[in-house]
Parts: sequence; C-alpha cells; structure tokens
Amino acid sequence: MSTIKIAIDGPAGAGKSTIAKIVAKQLGFIYIDTGAMYRAVALKAIKNNIDTKDTDKVCSILHDLDIDIKYDNNGQVVFLDGQDVTQEIRTPEVSIGASNVAAIPEVRIKLVELQRKLAASNNVIMDGRDIGTYVLPDADIKIFLTASVEDRAKRRYEEMIAKNSFCSLEEVKKDIEYRDKNDSSRAFAPLKIAEDAVVIDTTGNELEESLNIVLQLIKERLQ
Ligand code: C5P
Repeated sequence: MSTIKIAIDGPAGAGKSTIAKIVAKQLGFIYIDTGAMYRAVALKAIKNNIDTKDTDKVCSILHDLDIDIKYDNNGQVVFLDGQDVTQEIRTPEVSIGASNVAAIPEVRIKLVELQRKLAASNNVIMDGRDIGTYVLPDADIKIFLTASVEDRAKRRYEEMIAKNSFCSLEEVKKDIEYRDKNDSSRAFAPLKIAEDAVVIDTTGNELEESLNIVLQLIKERLQ
C-alpha cells in the first residue's frame, strides 16, 4: 500500500515544526521531525566529548548509534541509546552541533535510512532541510517554508523564553545565521528549494495565517 508523504523544508525558525505538528493532528498523519535525529547525534558526540566538526570521531560513534522515535499524546519522543532525550536536544549547543554533524555524509546516510523507513509504512508529514530534495523526492506535496532572519530569530527567542530557557535575541539570531550558512553551503544534501516545491514566506504572518495557507494548499492537493 502506498503512503502519502508531505515534505516541509526550510531554515530554522520558519515555523515548520509548529505547523507540521498541527497539520499532522488534523490529517491523522505521523509527524516526523528529522532535525531531532541530527540533534540526537550531536548530543551523543557532546556527551562523549567529541568535537561535532571532527568527522572521523563523529563517524566512530555511528556504528552503535541507537536512535528511536516514538509517539505519545504530546507528539514525538526521541530516544538516544534507550534514554528519552526529547528535552535535552533543544539547547543552543546541541543546535550548533546538529548543524555540524549534519554536514557529514555518513551521518546523513544513516539517518535518511531511518527517515525513509518511517515514511514507507505511515502517512507522514516530515520536516527538515532536504526532505523534498533528497529524503523523499517523490513526496506528494513539497512545501518550502521561509521567513526573514529577523522574524525567525524573534519567534525562536519567544519560544525559548516561554520554555524558561535563558538566552538573548542576539544569540538566537547568531545561531540561526550560523546554521543557515552551514546548512545551505554543505556539499551533501544542502538546504535548498526543491524544483517542485511551493514556497511560502511567513514573514510578518501570525501563526494562524501561515497555518491556513499550508492547510489550504494541502487540502487542494490531496483532493
Ligand atoms: O530542524 P532543527 O532546527 O531541529 O534541525 C537542527 C539541525 O539539523 C539543522 O540546523 C540542520 O543542520 C540539521 N538538519 C539537516 N537536515 C534535516 C533536518 C535537520 O541537516 N533534514
């Protein structure tokens, strides 16, 4: 039986995960946050005192890497080597580390295998950087969600403050700019717009507006 696949790509803070989670709930699809998997690899490296830019050392932890994704009422739960790391992977250090390990082809190949396996047996909405271009090139709908760096930094900052994480807007903006550059310039499966993707720029939008645009597009395409 073939499954329905919706790909949402775009830079950090464009609203991908918030929108994808709501859409998944409405459609009864599974939401797959692929960024969480890169974050888990980065966390494992950091816990082993490995520099996330050191390709050889990062590759050395891949052979026994155990990442598992489960779902409860709150959404995706990420397990790294049997431990729930859903919260631990959300720190600024892990964000930067994730972008570094994501530039290593061996890391991507390993995680893409898991992502494709999940999409083969479920109707999915998957978000990331390379879903429409590389992970699921045959996705039924491809969306590229973007916004100005100022808007994205502000949204991410507000999310972090709401979770009681201490940070400054300037730090969040720097983190986003670093990842934008790193993610777009890597050689293997960089962040880029798929030829057949619909680009949605959410600059200046309230979440509700962006969500409605995405929902409308999906409803039209799935008819
Ligand atoms: O989406 P999120 O911000 O959690 O992703 C963390 C990092 O993981 C990104 O900055 C990017 O470097 C990497 N990533 C990726 N490909 C994906 C998803 C995330 O390279 N499909």
